[in-house]
Amino acid sequence: MVEFADVVKRFGDTTVLDELSFTVAPGEFVSLIGPSGSGKTTILRLLMTLERVTEGTISVGGEPLSHMRRGDRLVPADDKHLAAARRRIGMVFQQFNLFPNMSVLRNITEAPIRVLGQSRAEAEERARELLDLVGLGERAGEHPSRLSGGQQQRVAIARALAMRPDVLLLDEVTSALDPELVAGVLDLLRDIATTTDITFLCVTHEMGFARKVSDRVLMFDHGRVIEDAPPERLFTAPREERTREFLHAVL
Ligand code: ADP
Repeated sequence: MVEFADVVKRFGDTTVLDELSFTVAPGEFVSLIGPSGSGKTTILRLLMTLERVTEGTISVGGEPLSHMRRGDRLVPADDKHLAAARRRIGMVFQQFNLFPNMSVLRNITEAPIRVLGQSRAEAEERARELLDLVGLGERAGEHPSRLSGGQQQRVAIARALAMRPDVLLLDEVTSALDPELVAGVLDLLRDIATTTDITFLCVTHEMGFARKVSDRVLMFDHGRVIEDAPPERLFTAPREERTREFLHAVL
């Protein structure tokens, strides 16, 4: 579902991703861990097409993200192709990024109406189902500022799901939450991951969560994957000294 092939990303003289290759199978939940500055957020930004690769290719669902097919040839993607590719990928951010001046319901219906062309009735019906799913069925008419951080993050998750993404990117989704709200949001994400066939890429510092939910964990250092293993193996018997040091520092 997601493939990075020899991806290099440089900002000026700084190489942030260094011939990075990995794949994520459909329905897999993959966590990206590693020290700050190792390139994890850059991977999500590349998938959101907020950045472009310097070298190499990224594919989503077998289609290159930055290029498109014209006959037998691959040519640089135009805006329409990029928008279509981006539509398959949802993202939940650290800071929720809800629209403050819209009700909870409208936060969820806006993109399905504008981008997917759903009717208001159809979008609202789906939004109410999603609000029930995230435990906020009663709060549809309120503004986000009336909700706790954990509730706002649940709305952001519902909003991402409303676009029916194939791939959902999670960027430190609990780091802005009060500690007592973290477990509820993580449990919700685990339920969604186990009951849908969405593919997840999750940047997280929550090692307990990564261990419980992931099918695979990728350990990053200096823009490379230095270890790629199922969580039980990675957390109990890391093979790389750098992974051991990192886990020792964060656990
Ligand atoms: P992580 O998410 O693992 O903490 P990032 O992907 O955010 O790492 O950053 C990796 C490196 O790329 C860091 O050294 C960061 O300073 C650098 N970087 C990220 N974005 C930019 C940018 N727009 N311009 C210059 N350097 C950047």
